Order: sequence, then structure tokens, then C-alpha cells
Amino acid sequence: MKQLYRSYEESTTLFKNFEKVYPSLIKVESIGQTWEKRDINLITISKDIETADFVPALFFTGTIHAREWIGHEVAIDFVKYVVENIEIDPVLQNILNKATIYLVPCANPDGFEYSRKHFSFWRKNRRQNADGSYGVDLNRNFPIGFIKSTNTTSNIYGGPEPFSEPETRALKEFVESHPNIAIALDYHSQGNVFFPAHDFRHEDTVDTTDMNILCANMAEEIRKVSGREYGIHQGKPPAKLISGSGREFYYSKGIISTVVEVGTRNISDYMEDMAENIREHIPALLAAAQEAPYYDKNNPLKRVDNFNVARVGSNHVRLKWDYESNEHIHFEIYRSKKNKSYCRPFNLVARTQALEFVDDNLQSSTDYFYNIRAVDMNILQKSPYTPQVRVRTLVEYDDFSRLYYANASQTGYVASNINNNAKHFGINSLFVGIDENKGISYSMVTVDLKTMPENAIIKSARLLLYPINRVSTTIEKYGEWNVGIVNQETMGDITNFDDVDEMDITTYIGRPTASHQLTQGIWREWRLSRNECEILSNEIKNEKLVFRVEGPKKLKTGRKSQMMQWDIGYGRFGFGLTYRPMLELTYTLEPTIATLYPKKLNTISNKEVKEDEVYSGYDENGSKIYSTFEFDLSSLPPYDYTMITRAYFELNSTKIYIKDDIRFHLEFVDQDVIKDYNGISNREVIQNIGYDVSANELKNNQKQYFMFDSFAEIELNKKLQDKSSIAFVLKPTSAKKVIKNSVVNWATQDDELSPKLIIEYIPKRRNPVNTIENLKLLKEDGKIKLTWDNPKDKDFGGVKVIKNAFREPFSNNDGQKLYAGRDNYTYDDFGALDIEKYYAVFTYDEVPNYSEPVIIKYTP
Ligand SMILES: [Zn+2]
Repeated sequence: MKQLYRSYEESTTLFKNFEKVYPSLIKVESIGQTWEKRDINLITISKDIETADFVPALFFTGTIHAREWIGHEVAIDFVKYVVENIEIDPVLQNILNKATIYLVPCANPDGFEYSRKHFSFWRKNRRQNADGSYGVDLNRNFPIGFIKSTNTTSNIYGGPEPFSEPETRALKEFVESHPNIAIALDYHSQGNVFFPAHDFRHEDTVDTTDMNILCANMAEEIRKVSGREYGIHQGKPPAKLISGSGREFYYSKGIISTVVEVGTRNISDYMEDMAENIREHIPALLAAAQEAPYYDKNNPLKRVDNFNVARVGSNHVRLKWDYESNEHIHFEIYRSKKNKSYCRPFNLVARTQALEFVDDNLQSSTDYFYNIRAVDMNILQKSPYTPQVRVRTLVEYDDFSRLYYANASQTGYVASNINNNAKHFGINSLFVGIDENKGISYSMVTVDLKTMPENAIIKSARLLLYPINRVSTTIEKYGEWNVGIVNQETMGDITNFDDVDEMDITTYIGRPTASHQLTQGIWREWRLSRNECEILSNEIKNEKLVFRVEGPKKLKTGRKSQMMQWDIGYGRFGFGLTYRPMLELTYTLEPTIATLYPKKLNTISNKEVKEDEVYSGYDENGSKIYSTFEFDLSSLPPYDYTMITRAYFELNSTKIYIKDDIRFHLEFVDQDVIKDYNGISNREVIQNIGYDVSANELKNNQKQYFMFDSFAEIELNKKLQDKSSIAFVLKPTSAKKVIKNSVVNWATQDDELSPKLIIEYIPKRRNPVNTIENLKLLKEDGKIKLTWDNPKDKDFGGVKVIKNAFREPFSNNDGQKLYAGRDNYTYDDFGALDIEKYYAVFTYDEVPNYSEPVIIKYTP
């Protein structure tokens, strides 16, 4: 396993050889010496070594932790890739035309060699501490957030003071003397995750979006190569933030910076795993280097201002922004359905010089994430990204959507080697899989559905779990994580391992998550098929849903753990309530069917108006005879609380005196045009209903249905508003010039076969309830507290509180969600007091229709 890994000496020789063969492309230099007098190698890759330091640069560091050999290996093969491909790879040439790449393949050569030769899991450097113990964790020896400790034997002992170590001093001096560094990547293992830099405040910074996109672009390159998915995790509250690390030091110098955790173990099987990890990180590194010019501190192109949503519907979003533009500038807009997504050519939805963009044909009740940057074609430069806009499209006219969170007391995990599993419920993370200590572990997630209407028809659903940590899934490509709906009739005790193990699963939902798709920091979803939604609809009667989450149940020989940890959101181990397991549903209701009979029936010919009689066709002079039908909508429930979801017109013929090719059209018209022949000839048609029908078809089928299309349904809904009567005209047409004495008689009012207007409708509020009032900000116990008065309306469902540090949130998804529920106050628990920001409070009803926001600005 270790044979194929290269020693520090070997890599030094390799790099020096490359330098010899490609002197204008590769440079090797020492930026300092370790305690054991090894040179710390710095490799420069540039189109022209002479000018390398004047070009925006990517800075790579690897193996600062001795046992994390991946960094060293990736650096070697990356340089090798460059020298072997510079002549043939236009992407690489293009990148090197605009960027320099600096690599410190191994920032801890002493520790690395110690780990290779003696103690594989050694992490620190090889300083001899005053008490005779060895080592300082170099990645705790930087000054930002440095923690002074005397626990010298600790694996994360940060040294006597910041920069006490020659290795970190060398990095400091190099970075401080190279202001052209724009992006810093620090390679570690393990976890398949990016950890972007933070500023020790639990707020997004203006460049959070930039760092997330940089990581997501790299992740997408990795996925392309191997299908492996990477998480992106900035360490949100109340997670402990790492102190004294290189990443935050680089970030404090204005450099976009992230840690890259590669693979699932430190020293992996080289041929099976390491080779693939290296292969997938070469395009990822190139994707990162491509961005270096855009994060250069001297980039004259500024971010787009005031990027926001101007309007949102069930299937479109209108975006707007400001920019001092000129003819050379345009904007790139990227769209994604996932948070922390990439911006690559395949999700670029618009290139425009306008200051707005309408995105059409979207799905209803769906989250969309938009990113924007400016591009200047004159200087071939791109701006950083503006903080991401998040928006959810509205529900479809006949839909409702619901978000249910797991019920704490009935959500937890059971493990085969643990006696009192009940104590994990409502408190612990959801462990799923297997490890040596816990044994086999399942998680149970219970969602209360008491508030779900019994006649709901679920149209779409997804279960979401937040991956808090995947470090204990240590085996590559082994096992999958499934979610099943438990049959509650045979369920037993959900806190008892044997009962859980034997549970009858009605169906597994969505697609399994394979081990290489496990991430952290990005929600994982199991999306239900239509069939599974039907099963879910049947579960509503139980007033709750119980899910069993399961993973692999056997370990590979010699391996200790294949365990995934999802967040429960509750208790002290979780990231907070917003990270609870969620079930998101879109549903409609079984409709009420109303059959309306005409209040008036007429036949209108050139000669006369006949009441209560209906026939239509052509008279003895060849003039058209029309039939008209008028309906009264007053028996339907009030417009504000009713949505007509389907409508059709039924007509039965009784006698047919027709030989020629005559067709009949049913028109939806305004009621007052049909009093006489003159009126009807000048009628204005709202819409034709359904398709025209021929006399022949009538002979085969006495009953005819004319279905309303969506436009006609919208018009019908409008008529409901003032409960006006509505009318229809049956009009004959023919391709022949002259037709005489051809009519069809239709059944009338008194007949069972009477013309009918059949309307299906559901109870649904059309408008939001009123906004909240008296929104106030105050400080309490060192936290920001918001208070307000809720509207007094029986349909008031609750409020949603959103925080955004960059703009007034237009939509109720645009920012960090602080609270949703019926209370009239909330705290911003982890919010920083020294940052300006906006809080927006939206009210909602059960649809939900959201009110306009009430916004308050916090100024420190
Ligand atoms: Zn590390």
C-alpha cells in the first residue's frame, strides 16, 4: 500500500528534474528549513517564470498534517500533468496565460517522513517541546483565533505562540511577499469535503458565495471524473470553528481560501483509491486556477449591486440588479436548484447587457438559486459573484405546500450494541450504518401529519436530511443509505433495536445514497416517485409518518467504521432547529363537484328568439341558428376562499337533421351579448371551450363534453369574483357556401339530459393574511431580539423570519431563516452584533400565501 507513495526526497528529485527540462515553466525553490533542516519546497508553475510573481496566482499547500499524504501526492501528479500536457491542452494553456500556480507540496516534511517511516498516524511537526514531548500542530500555529495551550502532547497543540514554527513562518513570509496570490487551497484528508474560510462570526460574508462557488466548481469537476460528491461546509453555529489555521490566515490577507479534505482515510489503498483521488483533483485544481484572475486584489471589475428578485410567480422569476455599465460589459446569470451549487457553462441561463432577466418555464413550489457576475469583454475580466439570491416559486393554482419537521421525541437512532437506545431520541445525531462500538445502527424519523387534510392528494414529496459529518464512513464505494416508510400496524417499539430491525417497510423512497455520494454541509434528499406519493397519501390517516433510515450492516474485514451522521437539529449535538429532518410536500385536495343547470336557454335565429328550446344549425334561408346557455354562479362558495380547478360543459343531442358537414363550436362569452340576433352576431368571444364537434360525431355519441382549457379556467375563476352569470353560445360552421334546413335539437332543462356546467373546486385562500405590525429590534442577553404583533385572522398560519446581511429580502427564502411559527418574537442566537443587516418578517396562511415582508434594518 505504501510502496507507491513517494518520499519527500523522491518528490524533490522529481521537481528538480522537471525544472531542468522545463526551466521557463517550472521553478523549484526553498522557502525555509524545518527543525530537521529539510528544505520546504515551493514549486512555481507559470507560462513565463520571469514574470510569474506579477500574475494573479493560486496557492496550493499540502500535507501540513504529517499523516495526510494526499496533498504531497496531488502536487506531484499535478506538476507532472502540467509538463506533460502544456503543449496539447488548450484549457491549461489558457489558464497559464492568465494565472500562476504556486505549490508547497508538503508543508510538514519532517512530520511526513516520520509518518512514512515510523508512526503512520503522526500529525504534527517534529519540534522538541520543552517537556521532551514532540510536535506542534502546524495548522493551529497561525495567529487568527490562536489558542494558547500547555497541553503539548495533544494532537492539536498549537505551539507556544503563533508562528513559533519554521514551517509556518516560511508560509507566512511567502504569502506576505506575494500579494498576487488570489486563491489558497490547503489540501488535507479526509472527508470528501471543502471547508471554506470563515471570519469567526456566524454570518455570511460578502465573499461566502465566491468561496462556495469555487468549491462547487471543483466538486463538479470531481463528480465528472468519478461520480464522487463533495460537501461544502463553512462551519455554521454552533459548530466549533478551527483556531489558528492557515486557511484563516490566508483569508485575513484578502485571499479566497478553503481547506480541501480528500478521500475517506489518510493513507488509502494507492491503486484503488489514491490514484482516483489524484485523477479527479487535477481538473478540480485547473477549475480553481481558472478563477485566480477574477479574485485578484487589483481586479477593477466590481461585483454587481442590488441583485434581487423583482417578481416571482409559480413558473417564472424576474431578477434585477444595478451596475454602472458600458458597452463592453455584460452579465452572466447562473441558476441551480441546489444551494452551494457550481457556476459552469451548462447552468449559465443568461448572458445579457440588460439590468434584468426573466427566467421562464420554471417548476412551481421549487427553490431556485441564482448567481450573477459581470464580464468585461474589453479587458477580458470577470467580477467576483454577488451574494446568491434564493427564491422559491409560488405554488400552482390548485396546490398547497407544506414543510414538516421531524418530531423530536420520536426521532433518534437505535444501535445493536447499545442497551438503552431510547435515550438517543430527541437528542443525539442520527447515526446510520455500522461501526465497531455501536454495531448496526438505524435511525428513526417521525413526522406528525395531524395538520394534513385527510382528502389531500400528494403530488410531490421529498425527505431531506442534513449530513453533519461523514468522516466515519471510511470505506470507499461500500454500502448505500436508504429510507423506508414503516408499516405502522406492525411497527412495535421504535426505540428498541430488535423491533426496528424487524420492521415491515411498506416502500423504500427515492433513490439510495451510495457511499461516494455522502457529503456534509449540503442537504441530501430522497425524492418520492408518484407511486411512493400515493403510498404517502394513504398514510395521512395514521396522522404520522415513520421513516427508517438504514445503511450498510456489515463491515469489511479489518475496517472499523462505515457510519454516517445526520443532524437531528435538537439537543446539544445538533446545528440547531433549522437542520432538523424535513419532509416537504406539495399536494392538492379532492375537489368538490358542483353541477350547474342553466338559468336560461335560448335559440336565436334571424327570425326569432325562442326561450327554453335549444336547437342549432342553419335555417331555410341558410342563416345560422345559435343556441345560448346562461348559468348562475351564485351557488358557489366565495371567490377569496375558492379555486375552480376544472370545468366542463355537457350537452346531449336529441334529434339530428343533418346530412352535410356541419361542426359546432361552444363559445364562452359575456352574458349580455346574446339578447338578440344582432347582439349575437357582434359578440365578443372570451374563449372557445374544448374542440368543435361534427354532426357525424353527434350521431355516434349523444353526449358531448366541452372541456375548459387553462385560459378558460382562469377566466371562469374571474367570473367567480363578482358571482356574475356566465354564458355560452353554440355556433354552427360549415365549409360549404350554402347550407339550408339543417339543425340539431338538444335536450333541455326539464330533461335528465339537460345541458350542464360541471365545476370542480377546492377550498383555497387566494390572498395572504395581513402583515405583522410593530416590528422592533432590541438587545437582550447580548443577542438581537425581534418582537412584533401578529395579525388577528383565523387563517393566520405563522410568520417566517429571514436575515440577510446584504439586501432587503424580497422573498421569504432569500437569506438565513431564523424562525417560522406562531410566536411573536425570536432571537438571532448566533448573530454578530457588529454587522449591519436586514430582518424581514413574512406572514403566511396554510397554502401558504406569503405576505409582503415587514423589514427592519439593524445598524451596529
Ligand atoms: Zn488535516
